[in-house]
Amino acid sequence: MKSIVLGYPRIGANRELKKITEKYWRGDATEDELLRVGRQIKSENWKLQHDLGVDLISSNDFSLYDQVLEMCTTLGCIPQRFEHLDGLHQYFAMARGLQNKEVDVTAMEMTKWFDTNYHYIVPEFTSETKFRMNPDKILGEIKEAKKLGIQTKPVIIGPVTFLLLGKEKEDGFNRLDLLSSLLPCYQELLELISNEGVEFVQIDEPILAKDLSGEEQLAIKKSYSFFANNSTKLKIILANYFDCYGANLNLALDLPVQVLHLDLVRCRLQLDDILAHPLFNGNKILSLGLVDGRNIWKNDYEQSLRLVEKAKEKLDSSQIWIGTSCSLLHSPVNLELESNNEKIPHEVKQWLAFAEQKLGEVIDLTTLANGEEGTIIRERLSDNKRVHSLKRSSKLVHNGEVKKRLKNLKESDSQRKSPFTQRQLEQRNHLRLPLYPTTTIGSFPQTKEVRIQRRKFKKNELSSKAYDEFLFNETHEAIKFQEAIGLDVLVHGEFERNDMVEYFGEHLSGFAFTQFGWVQSYGTRCVKPPIIYGDVSRPKPMTVKWSSVAQSLTKKHVKGMLTGPVTILQWSFVRNDQPRSATCNQIALAIRDEVCDLEKAGIKIIQIDEPAIREGLPLRKEDWGTYLNWAIKAFRISASGVDDSTQIHTHMCYSEFNDIIDDIAEMDADVITIETSRSEMELLQAFVDFKYPNEIGPGVYDIHSPRVPTTEEIENLLERASELLPIENIWVNPDCGLKTRDWPETKLALENMVRAAQKLRQKQLQSV
Ligand code: GLN
Ligand code: ZN
Repeated sequence: MKSIVLGYPRIGANRELKKITEKYWRGDATEDELLRVGRQIKSENWKLQHDLGVDLISSNDFSLYDQVLEMCTTLGCIPQRFEHLDGLHQYFAMARGLQNKEVDVTAMEMTKWFDTNYHYIVPEFTSETKFRMNPDKILGEIKEAKKLGIQTKPVIIGPVTFLLLGKEKEDGFNRLDLLSSLLPCYQELLELISNEGVEFVQIDEPILAKDLSGEEQLAIKKSYSFFANNSTKLKIILANYFDCYGANLNLALDLPVQVLHLDLVRCRLQLDDILAHPLFNGNKILSLGLVDGRNIWKNDYEQSLRLVEKAKEKLDSSQIWIGTSCSLLHSPVNLELESNNEKIPHEVKQWLAFAEQKLGEVIDLTTLANGEEGTIIRERLSDNKRVHSLKRSSKLVHNGEVKKRLKNLKESDSQRKSPFTQRQLEQRNHLRLPLYPTTTIGSFPQTKEVRIQRRKFKKNELSSKAYDEFLFNETHEAIKFQEAIGLDVLVHGEFERNDMVEYFGEHLSGFAFTQFGWVQSYGTRCVKPPIIYGDVSRPKPMTVKWSSVAQSLTKKHVKGMLTGPVTILQWSFVRNDQPRSATCNQIALAIRDEVCDLEKAGIKIIQIDEPAIREGLPLRKEDWGTYLNWAIKAFRISASGVDDSTQIHTHMCYSEFNDIIDDIAEMDADVITIETSRSEMELLQAFVDFKYPNEIGPGVYDIHSPRVPTTEEIENLLERASELLPIENIWVNPDCGLKTRDWPETKLALENMVRAAQKLRQKQLQSV
């Protein structure tokens, strides 16, 4: 049995790639210096895997920005607006746009890679798209590794995944029509790779984890038959991951490829299906993806080996490979860097494995599966058993109170006392807000000063008294400002928060934080997701203090500000010893307690942000219902502990609402604020068509740009919204939080927004 790793993180253990790339962008490093760091990272990654004994090591898993962008340049699929540029200039212009005296081109679009938090550059296609193969990077890496004495398997994105992940930039044209001109280009590439003496190539087709139409399935079939008919000596590893092959299984088993990769972490059961499948006649190697590339938990060796045993019953050892479930791109790099980190309990550290440790796991599992004897490997197996049995019974994980509460959850816990129409009347009586009430989404500019003070406080360079004083002054200023410009519902400004998930994680039990657990999100942007390791509970109120302080400074309503359970779950590494839904409900109960405490403290309006609801959707439509059911319910649990007169808001950004609008309505928030300004209220249509029953704040300007919208523009948008929605249900707000903006533009924009609302109110008065 051989070992295989589908891909390795490329940012470097200390984010070396990020640092040098940003330096290069600033003009403080040369192209040579940038490429040198790249080569360094690649060779370290290869050597690490080679020395550990990984049999199938990837090349071309490295990229200066993104692997799909890499594929665009390899295939010469360059949108016309970048054609006059070349080299790295062109490459980074495609990724980030370019604006200087001579050039002004917008970047290509970026979107999430399947259900991960990684973003790829979206290929652009027109009927004019011509492919021209450019093999330099791929061949170059094969040679670079060879110089180190390491034979690699290059990884490329498959033709159908490449086309389907891209976008048509022309009406009446189908990007799959490009397949016939694309395949010869791939074939040429495969031949060149083969000429390098390479034995295996890994072709990633994760699109197989999604629902495919007949036409799309046919495209897969056509592609791999094409490669087989034009055969080189190269053997193909077809890699699907993030879910099983599902309804595409027949298709996949029938393809003329030598190796089929299975993500057995996301879907264990598919192994039985495949081994028992009539089309599986044992003429393929199965690559068993046993080590989780998406999470940070140590592999459970006994459990993994049981799957290998199953495969062994049907297959010869030479037909079984053991590897990672997907590329390790989605894991933090090295756990050893956390040895001095006190924010992860010592016991919990023993349960973790980052990318480097996962390599060791792949090797251990292969050694064990091959039945190799030796004291070291036997010790590792018993260590692994011991760790898992300790974890199963650890007090850090299990909290009887939390489990009891979860078990006793009743249907009524996810229901407000009365239906919306009745609540709306009560809230109107209590809140006494004008027509077109104005508000913001929560955060105000996180100035340099705010970040400096927080950093000092965290490093113990600032006493908590001094930090509190600073926060008080910021909050006070924010309240004075909001009153001065005439906003109706105020916020405290979120000056005490770093990040909308991290802040809550730091105040909840069951969470741990890495110091260097960076994972690439896009380009040079990396994130450090919190780790949820145990039952979640809330030792004490988390936000009541600053909300009450703010409320004490004004007679207007101050809106409490919370992150919702689904978003906290979605943006963290979560437990794998219980369903996600259970963890989500635990978080929901903690947030519910916070909501109730805010109400008790006199806060009458509370916003629970859920920007991540949509991105949690499973890859296959048939699984959507189950997910939406528990996710929406978790939100409702968090929101339903309050009286009818307390108004619950929720906020979502970057969402396409069309296909899940009824579920959003099911959330039953009294008010929802959404992003619509960029699309000129287009996104609002879903709410209109659906006759969304509750109140709604369509964002009236784009906070992602420093541009100040005019009063007229906002008025126009509000007029349009007023034609579409019942006027008494409309709120007026920017489309997201303002933390990335500066104060001057924020002031001007909000002044214009308030003025626009006032004008509409006047018009309304005149018309009655
Ligand atoms: N309340 C948060 C803020 O204003 C919401 C952020 C978000 O939706 N991403 O910053
Ligand atoms: Zn937002």
